[in-house]
Amino acid sequence: MRLLLILIAGLGVLVASPSSAFAKVNIFACEPEWAALAEEIGGDLVNIKSATNARQNVHHIRAKPSLLAGMRKADLVFCSGASLEIGWLPILIKKAGGPDVQPETIGWLMAADYVEKLDVMTEHVDRSMGHVHPEGNPHIHLDPRNVSIIADVLADRLTMIDRENTKAYQQNLAAFQNHWKSLMVTWEAGGRSLKGQKVVVYHNAWAYLLKWLGMDVIASLEPKPGIPPTASHLETVLKNVQGQKVTAILVAPFENEDAAEWLSGKSGIPVVHTPFTVGGNDKADSLTGLFEETIRLLKGGL
Ligand SMILES: [Zn+2]
Repeated sequence: MRLLLILIAGLGVLVASPSSAFAKVNIFACEPEWAALAEEIGGDLVNIKSATNARQNVHHIRAKPSLLAGMRKADLVFCSGASLEIGWLPILIKKAGGPDVQPETIGWLMAADYVEKLDVMTEHVDRSMGHVHPEGNPHIHLDPRNVSIIADVLADRLTMIDRENTKAYQQNLAAFQNHWKSLMVTWEAGGRSLKGQKVVVYHNAWAYLLKWLGMDVIASLEPKPGIPPTASHLETVLKNVQGQKVTAILVAPFENEDAAEWLSGKSGIPVVHTPFTVGGNDKADSLTGLFEETIRLLKGGL
């Protein structure tokens, strides 16, 4: 018994020491979907801080002290990138990021850098166009094929940061990918009936999901990206949807639903409250739940 206590005490010292082999990798995830993926691949070997939750609009976050504190500890910064976090991440990195998490280092992982982006702007971009994302649409997480690509990239990075646990990360990755690929087959089969359906969105945050499922966006409630709906723009959208078969108006948990409700009242098109990310509703409590729930809601909640 005494020997056991000594052993436990000794282990405690090792765990508490940041330089020991037992220290966990601290991951600063900008969005809940990346925090969830980090948990899948990192398991017990990582500590995760999600900078935002599903009720927050990640375009507009304040670089508050709790985020600076989280950034100070980070060994890996894991975000969407492509300017999504341009209003706050650069401030956090500059004020609190260590040398190993600066842009272009191993500790800097911007998911959008690794997938084929939609809506890349080729012409001149200026402020009159609204809050456009010139490098392309950064909302890449709602295509499960992108999630699979990023899982590989993440496992590689964790291996570089924490070589001793290479085997564990590779095992977690293999288990995740096996399961994910079979889920994708199920989701694609379940989503087949959605192909060709037309929807209205609040913000162009659904492009990857809708492309994956073969659905079409016919209008945004925002007149320009990041600019709230105006009465005259909504009248234009109403004219546009009349005479077309539009199945849903998609709204994320952090978006104001007044404009969507107005359009729904005038047109009879239902408003669909989609979770958008992990935690966006009770059933979207994991990446798997997020996709299952999104497809279920797109199919009329059946
Ligand atoms: Zn956006």
